[in-house]
This record gives sequence, structure tokens and C-alpha cells, in this order.
Amino acid sequence: MSTSGIAMDKQQELSKLESELATDESLPLRESNLVFGEGNVDAKVVFVGEAPGFHENQLKRPFVGRAGQLLDKFIQEIGWKREDVYITNIVKRRPPENRDPIPEEIEAYKPYLARQLTILNPTVIATLGRFSMNYYLPEAKITRDQGKVFRVGSTCVVPLFHPAAALRSTGVLEQFRESFRKLPAIIAKCEKLPPVEIKRPPPQAKLF
Ligand code: URA
Repeated sequence: MSTSGIAMDKQQELSKLESELATDESLPLRESNLVFGEGNVDAKVVFVGEAPGFHENQLKRPFVGRAGQLLDKFIQEIGWKREDVYITNIVKRRPPENRDPIPEEIEAYKPYLARQLTILNPTVIATLGRFSMNYYLPEAKITRDQGKVFRVGSTCVVPLFHPAAALRSTGVLEQFRESFRKLPAIIAKCEKLPPVEIKRPPPQAKLF
């Protein structure tokens, strides 16, 4: 609800969140552009990467460089379109020289990711790489757990390799593809699960 008592739709809520992010001077990496995320606000799956890189910073859009092209290819391979899904990152601005985000940066941006995902409320969150995986599943290991399905509250979380890692190794590429192809079936299964009643936050992640 807005302060005027009129309910906002998802797009309006996301735009408000984006404006808050844009004006939050406490956030690190403010010398880079804000890359909030994009896609279908009613998507059943949201992909969450690490942080924007050079091209993403230029275009203010997530996953538009080489890693993004691979993500697009896999999205198409399973018969979806990029516009069907929603894509964002845990850290919303590019770290210098495309270095990995540091813990303080992840901490600073985490509340915004949490609010963004609460608004989007997808059936499945597919994490890309270990940083966003560990946000939802602190104990998970990417090589051991990629492709598995975890429940975090009422949402299914599927850790996937980062497409940049898949570009560096044929073995990783094949595992990434195999896990990616399971996404439609995972969504169908997760849609049928009864919602979890949250008695006390934060919800525990459970493998099923
Ligand atoms: N890598 C990421 O993690 N996110 C992007 O948006 C681009 C590359």
C-alpha cells in the first residue's frame, strides 16, 4: 500500500525501490551506474547474478555481455524468451575492474535484493554463481549443490553455475546446460508445493 492507501502494482513498487536505491548515498560503488534489473515482473523464475560488469554498466542492463549472451542462449534453448524471465544481481553496481564483490558490498545491497524479490515473488529463484547462492544458502557449495532444488520459505532456490564460469570450462558448461534444462520441470513441481507457513524468520533452507 502507498501512503495514500492506494495499492501499488508490482511495477510501481519496483520503480519506487529503484528510486530509493538510486538516492541511497550510504551504498558503495556509487561511481558506477545503477543496474537495477529487468524483465517480466510476473515471471515464474528470477535469475540473480553477482554484480554488473563493463557492458552492463554501460547499458544499465543486467547480463548483456558475453556471460549474458550465454544466458540468453540457454533461455532460448528451453523455449523461453528473455522477456519472459526477470534478471537481476545481488550487487547493483559494477565493482572496479569487474572484481568480485566484497562482503561489505554484498551486505549493503542485500536488503534491496530482498525487497525486490519480495515484490516479484517468483516460484523459483535461480542463482548464478556462488555469491547469490550463498545469500540464500550460506552452507551451499557450488560444485556440490548446483542444479539441486532448495526451499527457502515458500520459494524454490536453484543454484546454477555462473555463465562466466561456464564460458571458461567445457565441463562446467555442460553441467550448467543440464541443470538449466531442468528449470521448466522444477517450476512445474514447485508451483504445486503448498506455501510454507513462516512461524519465525528467517526461514531455514531445506533440500527436498
Ligand atoms: N555477471 C553478473 O554476475 N551479472 C551481470 O549482470 C553480468 C555479468
